[in-house]
Amino acid sequence: MTRVFLLDVDNTLIDNDRAKKDLEREIQTLVGPERDALFWSIYDEVREKSGVVDFPETLARFRRALPDEPRTGEMERAVMSVPFERYLFPRALDVIAHLWALGTVVIVSDGDRVYQPLKIARAGLGLAAKGNVFVYAHKEDRLAEVQVRFPADRYVHVDDKASLLARTKERLDGRVTTIHVRQGHYANDPPAGPPPDVTVDRIADLLAIDWARFAP
Ligand SMILES: [Mg+2]
Repeated sequence: MTRVFLLDVDNTLIDNDRAKKDLEREIQTLVGPERDALFWSIYDEVREKSGVVDFPETLARFRRALPDEPRTGEMERAVMSVPFERYLFPRALDVIAHLWALGTVVIVSDGDRVYQPLKIARAGLGLAAKGNVFVYAHKEDRLAEVQVRFPADRYVHVDDKASLLARTKERLDGRVTTIHVRQGHYANDPPAGPPPDVTVDRIADLLAIDWARFAP
């Protein structure tokens, strides 16, 4: 039997809520509360328009909106050099190593094409996943592509968004185990579909799961 683990990144392996909070503080220190508020309103605007967080585009628009801002360069450096390896959830890399003993690990993340791959690499996740990394604008629509690249008898999807797990369950019913990691600000959102098979409070809890329970 071949098993493939599909792992999400933000708020599953990386504490993205905490990273964002720290970045907000840093930007506010650099440009003051008013311009900080403008930055994050552009961030939301870009996210709504493209469906994903896109820092490079947010920075470009901020620069165009405030060409006189002397600290935009420093702000860009702060955004582009967030030390994501420090924001890994406890034992996230141990979990990945553990899952490799049970199957193939594949990272499937939502995000833009520049910042998100950088984040994944910087956190050490690209290496941990042996280069098996997919970044999409809407990963829920790309499941077929992932299946072609990584065919398996059985999939395990691990995510902090219960609604994404429900989508996977609907498409791979009978061939997937869904695991909801209740971390971050989506932790209590309803699944809007089939509920997850397993719910854990921390990614480290995956180290203690009895996988024999999910054998076909
Ligand atoms: Mg996530």
